[in-house]
Amino acid sequence: MALLVQKYGGTSVANAECMRNVAQRIARTRSEGHQVVVVVSAMGDTTDDLIALAKQVNPDPDPREMDMLLATGEQVSIAILTMALHHIGVPAISFTGPQAGIFAESVHLKGRIIDVRPKRIVEALRHGKVVIVAGFQGLDEQEDIVTLGRGGSDMTAVALAWALKADRCQFFKDVRGVFTADPRIVPEARKLDEISYDEMLELASMGAAVLQSRAVEFAKQYGVPLEVLSSFEDEPGTIVREEVKAMEHVVVRGVAADRNQAKITILKVPDRPGIAATIFDAIARANVNVDMIVLNVRSQGQLADLSFTVPEGDLKVALKAVQSVVPEVSSEGVIYDTNIAKVSIVGVGMRSHSGIAARMFSALAKAGIDIHMISTSEIKISVVIPKEKADEAVRVLHREFRLDRPVTTVRTRVVRRRSRS
Ligand code: ADP
Ligand code: ASP
Ligand code: MG
Repeated sequence: MALLVQKYGGTSVANAECMRNVAQRIARTRSEGHQVVVVVSAMGDTTDDLIALAKQVNPDPDPREMDMLLATGEQVSIAILTMALHHIGVPAISFTGPQAGIFAESVHLKGRIIDVRPKRIVEALRHGKVVIVAGFQGLDEQEDIVTLGRGGSDMTAVALAWALKADRCQFFKDVRGVFTADPRIVPEARKLDEISYDEMLELASMGAAVLQSRAVEFAKQYGVPLEVLSSFEDEPGTIVREEVKAMEHVVVRGVAADRNQAKITILKVPDRPGIAATIFDAIARANVNVDMIVLNVRSQGQLADLSFTVPEGDLKVALKAVQSVVPEVSSEGVIYDTNIAKVSIVGVGMRSHSGIAARMFSALAKAGIDIHMISTSEIKISVVIPKEKADEAVRVLHREFRLDRPVTTVRTRVVRRRSRS
């Protein structure tokens, strides 16, 4: 007998028929002798619809009230799914995040889980029940509801799997697993049998919506085994796990695109120690994550334009933070651009193969795609390009690195060094 945490996302519980399908799957797992804790998202596009509804009455809603609203989506799902289970004779009980003992720090709309005390879940399991938990929500120290960032039900599932010492945390999706690229954009994308935590983390942070990056980070830190699989078919999915040596043979594991980015540029920043600290300190205090940073020194040498990217949803807050220090750091002010996308290639094999960046840039150049910014990590290369070119760039790179084939053909020289240029 295993203890399984199963997470079903919005698409998998989009309507009554989907709910009945999920209930059947849970019943099958239970009849195989397993204990099951289920985490569900809001049905279909409910969260987006609730956000749109809020904006109709207030263009800038209070984050606390937004959390009150958004948490209702998951609460509908848990009740409906539990009712569907009861109907087919499966004993089950639903819990909200707070009832399930999920505690989060008090940052509305982006709370981080700080503790899990799953007393009621353990008790219900002991009574032979299936437990259905609302994803995406926790309780802060003021006893207010906090949501855990978009895609946050994944975080709930991983945290519960960790707290309950579950044997596995399974994510049921409308795709059969993690693919070499979004199969909606690249039809020839291939399902991966396995992927390392680090690769999954980079892909997720770089826009592959298949798993929330925070959830993967947590799973890696605590060694929670993850599996991504289809909620509609009975096929093996993708295992996300600790890296093994053989994984380095594949140079590029996948390609991801993030279309929800914005570029902020502060013009004519003086070249003086402490300026960057002033700017990024203000942004950090606004709880915004900055990704790529580029400093373009002007020809005179004394002044530079400082550009960086932020998630598009944080643009307003980031601009406000930047404006607050602009009088100190710039004479010309700030401009921004939301017409950008970030496209990335990811693979642990990049550590030991050279020439990858050159190959990426020349493939994009051949396709006439302009690169505005570049950043790299040990296992990733990202470029900022015009948003309308994002899909094409993903397809070009998927082809260039032959990701449609079971094993990537390594044409580059194998060298034991870190540089990839
Ligand atoms: P959920 O309904 O569980 O929240 P999501 O919609 O967040 O699921 O994630 C599944 C979607 O992620 C798929 O429909 C797919 O289009 C998209 N996706 C993006 N990149 C990938 C990838 N590399 N592999 C699989 N799916 C991907
Ligand atoms: N319903 C939330 C969202 O759409 C959380 C989730 O689905 O994971 O982001
Ligand atoms: Mg999701």
